[in-house]
Amino acid sequence: MCSGQVVYVVGGGNSAGQAVMHMAGYARKVILVIRDDKPAASMSAYLLNRLRETPNVEIRTRTRITALTGTDHLEAVTLDRGGRETEVAVSRLFVLIGGRPHTEWAKDTSIIRDPAGYLVTGPDLLEGGNPPACWPLDRQPYYLETSFPGSFAAGDVRHGSVKRIASGVGEGAMAVQFVHRYLEETS
Ligand SMILES: Cc1cc2nc3c(=O)[nH]c(=O)nc-3n(C[C@H](O)[C@H](O)[C@H](O)COP(=O)(O)OP(=O)(O)OC[C@H]3O[C@@H](n4cnc5c(N)ncnc54)[C@H](O)[C@@H]3O)c2cc1C
Repeated sequence: MCSGQVVYVVGGGNSAGQAVMHMAGYARKVILVIRDDKPAASMSAYLLNRLRETPNVEIRTRTRITALTGTDHLEAVTLDRGGRETEVAVSRLFVLIGGRPHTEWAKDTSIIRDPAGYLVTGPDLLEGGNPPACWPLDRQPYYLETSFPGSFAAGDVRHGSVKRIASGVGEGAMAVQFVHRYLEETS
């Protein structure tokens, strides 16, 4: 779909960088639009270097997309750079500006979430070395344990997690060990 086309990608993180590199192999030009003055710290250094070295990739910082125009498909986007708006013709736009955890269910439990909805676990639950008021046990929460004893969180949904496949898999394996420990202490 993008062969020979000009493609816009929005976002400063790793996913946006990977999308740009993928599409640069097909598109005539790929323009990465980032609202900050540089890509996010979450973008891997090797990836940023590759983006900078790829001739048909352009990085536009301090730029936001403020409007999309078209009839039955995208025909143009409006770019805002420091208050100066420009409309450019484009029919391919990909938005990779982050995810949102599906944790609404936790609001009816004693599981503590951070302001973005990620589940808080282990040492992140402690304040001044003490567990939260809802924590009923004498011991402190295990590393991946939420504020509801015996309930564990692993991978992207966990507050402060690395958001990578290997770390998600590793945390899943660790969580199994903690489940065994929890079952031993409750049996
Ligand atoms: C575009 C993109 C590119 C990426 N590239 C890389 C990469 O190159 N290398 C890398 O290491 N990582 C990469 N990542 C990150 C990686 O995909 C994640 O870190 C990893 O998938 C996290 O695994 P997870 O099991 O924690 O969550 P997920 O893979 O999101 O799995 C969670 C699962 O839980 C399900 N679920 C949600 N709510 C409920 C519910 N209430 N009940 C039952 N099931 C539910 C969801 O449907 C989903 O299947 C990338 C991510 C994206 C979005």
